Amino acid sequence: MSEPPSNWRPQTIAVAAGRDQSPGAPLNVPPTFAATYRDGGDIGYGRFDNPTWSAFERTIGGLEGGHAVSFSSGQAASTALLTPLARGAAVVFPQDAYTGTRALLTELEQRGALSLRAVDVTDTDAVIAALDGARVLWLESPTNPMLGIAELPRLLEAATAARVFSVVDNTFATPVLQQPLALGADAVLHSATKYLGGHSDLVMGVVVTANPQRREVLIEHRTMRGSVPGVMEAYLALRGLRTLAVRVREQSATALELADRLNSDPRIDTVHYPGLPSDPGHERASVQMSAFGGMVSFVLGDGDAADRVVRALRLIVGGTSLGGVESTIDRRRRWPGEERVPAGLLRLSVGLEHVEDLWEDLDQALTG
Ligand SMILES: *Cc1c(COP(=O)(O)O)cnc(C)c1O
Repeated sequence: MSEPPSNWRPQTIAVAAGRDQSPGAPLNVPPTFAATYRDGGDIGYGRFDNPTWSAFERTIGGLEGGHAVSFSSGQAASTALLTPLARGAAVVFPQDAYTGTRALLTELEQRGALSLRAVDVTDTDAVIAALDGARVLWLESPTNPMLGIAELPRLLEAATAARVFSVVDNTFATPVLQQPLALGADAVLHSATKYLGGHSDLVMGVVVTANPQRREVLIEHRTMRGSVPGVMEAYLALRGLRTLAVRVREQSATALELADRLNSDPRIDTVHYPGLPSDPGHERASVQMSAFGGMVSFVLGDGDAADRVVRALRLIVGGTSLGGVESTIDRRRRWPGEERVPAGLLRLSVGLEHVEDLWEDLDQALTG
C-alpha cells in the first residue's frame, strides 16, 4: 500500500487511501480474520498488526495528516495517550470535556498517576496560564455536549512554546472540518465509534500523531495492553470513512438550518451551535473549522420537559452516542458525571434525514 499524495483533498483521501494497488488485488482491503500467520511474513501474531487495521489507519492518517494507530475504543485510545506519562505528570484539560475522558483522568489522578488542572477551554488566557510546568494539554473542540470552542491556533502555539504535549479530541469536528495537526497539535484523538464509522454499528478509537516515533510507542502500548480493535470493526470503520466528507458536509448544513429555527423558536430557552452568529464560539469556529458540524445542543425547561420531548419524537431516536446517519438525541444530565450540564439540555446529533422531516418531528414533539 502506498501513501496518498500530499496534495489530495480530504474527499479524495477518504475514498482513495488505504487500498492495495497491486494488479488483481481486491479494490477494498478485505477483513483479514487471523490470529496466526505463517512464518516468514511481516506480521508475527494477530495482536501485533492486521492488514485491515492498516488500511483504516492509512486512510485516517492521511485525512489528519499524520501516523495513525487504531484501538478497541475511543477510551482505549485516550488510555494509550495518558497511562505512559510519568507519575504525577500535570495534565491541563477542559472542565467540560467528554464525561468518559473526565472519568478516566479522575481515576488516574486518584491512583496518583496524574495531577489534574481543569480549565475553561474557551478562556484562552486561563488555559495558557495553566500550562506552566504541565506535561500535557488535552483539548476538545467543539466540546461534548456544550459545544464550546477552544482557540486552537493560539493554544497549540502556546503549548509548543512551553514544550507541553498537546492532544486534540477531534471527534466532533472530524478532519473534514478541522485538522489540529496542521494547527500544531502533537496528537489527535477520535472516538471512531462516532463520525468516522458513522453508522452506529461499531465501537473503535484512533490516535493520529505528527511524529512517527510516537506511533511506535502507541503500538507498543496497544500490543502490551491488548487494546486492539476487532477486524470486522476496522473493516466497517473504513467503509464508513469512505463517505465521511459527504456525510459531515450534509449533516453540517442540516444542523445549521435546525439550529437557526430552534434559535428563533420561543419554546426553546438556549441553543448552543457554533454556526449561529450569536454563539460565543462563532468567530473562532469560523477561523479554524470549514463548517460547524452536525451536533446541536439546546435547552428547554427542566429535565421533565426535555424528557417529554424525547419521548414524543417519532423519527429522531432517543439514545446516547452520535455521529451516525440516523439522527439521535440525548438528555445528557441523566448520565452520572454530567451534573454541570443544564437539566433540560438535549444534545442532538443530526443525521442524513431530510431537514423538513427532522423539523416536523421536532416541531410536533415540542408542541406536545
Ligand atoms: C464517545 C466519545 C469518546 C469516547 O469514545 P468511545 O468510542 O465511546 O470509547 C471520546 N471523546 C468524545 C468527544 C466522545 O464523544
